[in-house]
Amino acid sequence: AQEALAAIEAKRHLNAFLDVQPELTLAQARAADAARAAGTAGPLTGVPIAHKDIFVTRGFKSTAGSRMLANYVSPFDATVVERLAAAGMVTVGKTNCDEFAMGSSGENSAFGPTLNPRDERAVPGGSTSGSAAAVAAGIVPAATGTDTGGSIRQPASFCGITGIKPTYGRVSRYGMIAFASSLDQGGPMAQTAEDCALLLNAMAGFDERDATSIKRPAEDFTRLLAAPVDGATAGAPLAGLRIGVPAEFMGEGVAREVRDAIDAAIRCLEGLGAARVPIALPRTRLAIHAYYVIAPAEASSNLSRFDGVRYGHRCENPRDLQDLYERSRAEGFGAEVKRRILVGTYVLSAGYYDAYYKQAQKLRRLLAQDFQSAFAQCDVIVGPVAPTTAWNLGEKADDPVANYLADIFTLGVSLAGLPAMSVPASLGADSGRPVGLHMIGNYFDEARLLGVAHAFQ
Ligand code: GLN
Repeated sequence: AQEALAAIEAKRHLNAFLDVQPELTLAQARAADAARAAGTAGPLTGVPIAHKDIFVTRGFKSTAGSRMLANYVSPFDATVVERLAAAGMVTVGKTNCDEFAMGSSGENSAFGPTLNPRDERAVPGGSTSGSAAAVAAGIVPAATGTDTGGSIRQPASFCGITGIKPTYGRVSRYGMIAFASSLDQGGPMAQTAEDCALLLNAMAGFDERDATSIKRPAEDFTRLLAAPVDGATAGAPLAGLRIGVPAEFMGEGVAREVRDAIDAAIRCLEGLGAARVPIALPRTRLAIHAYYVIAPAEASSNLSRFDGVRYGHRCENPRDLQDLYERSRAEGFGAEVKRRILVGTYVLSAGYYDAYYKQAQKLRRLLAQDFQSAFAQCDVIVGPVAPTTAWNLGEKADDPVANYLADIFTLGVSLAGLPAMSVPASLGADSGRPVGLHMIGNYFDEARLLGVAHAFQ
């Protein structure tokens, strides 16, 4: 914990952290030492962890990367924070992120962009920018993230680390500052699939305080690390595994270096015994249209709570209630958040609801059905996480649509609620930038995804 705190200071310029509370951290570390001395330590006891600033955390600020919550301190811990602390993990700080998790580059934070430690001219990806950078820079071995449309997988890909978005409902959303509630899902980010499996063991599980939490018996996500496929041999650990490669994930618009790295990764999986199956996800492109209606719609509703009355930023000397609402929100929210609130309010308004929101919901159902057809032919779907590697800081900062297009491969998975992960396919030697292999599983198949990823690593 002391080393992590020192590394945070030494790497301040990355802007990966928004708040640290060393006394609190060191007190947790002493408690972990005591557990170890008493013989009650588990695999995660004493391991430093950083939390995305979307998870409310007692004793730390919880800002969601927004001016609106710049001074907010929660009176309670998010379930994820509580569970990881109960497993003995030591919280070393809160990590920077795109405001209310809206973004793909880490540049939408009210507290400035995070740098990518693999190449400081590049964006780290987003919205979980600080957690990805903190793990990639070796500041912490583990961090939490949230993924609404790709925000764990894409920064993991851009920073060359491993991250998993579990099946929707696996990880409690209680205490996760809401963006789009039907999509938001927390998950772990670390160097390896093995570490992610240990973290997910502590994070996942039913929580009666989250109405969409799924009631299932606890499971051990490390159980398929050694042998991901039943009956396979040590020499060919993936023999019998069918990996589906969607034509739409490897076609036009995918950068050369990404396609090359993914091709090499697929050949490696084949070398481990897996069989490649060509599949189709014909509506892949339409996921962008559906997501950028549904997510803003839910955001416009969720963010209506920030009215300057109960908590969050309040403007100076309001003339009346209307003025209080207007100026508090105008001052508290950044440009991307306002854009989403406007889009969301528009698509939900009378007269437009059927034309946009309802259509998007139908598309969401079709996208989920397409995945089910694909899983009739294969066990795991593989491809790139994003069509390009990390772009340069500032390159797309004024072009929201360019940012939205970069989410093409992650959004459909989120709309369907499936589990998926990013595993480094290439760390981008020779001045290239990292490429993440996207592995998508069927509902509740996290253990298998992690096992296949472990064999690959
Ligand atoms: N880039 C997507 C967006 O801006 C996804 C963000 C996320 O997963 N939180 O909405």
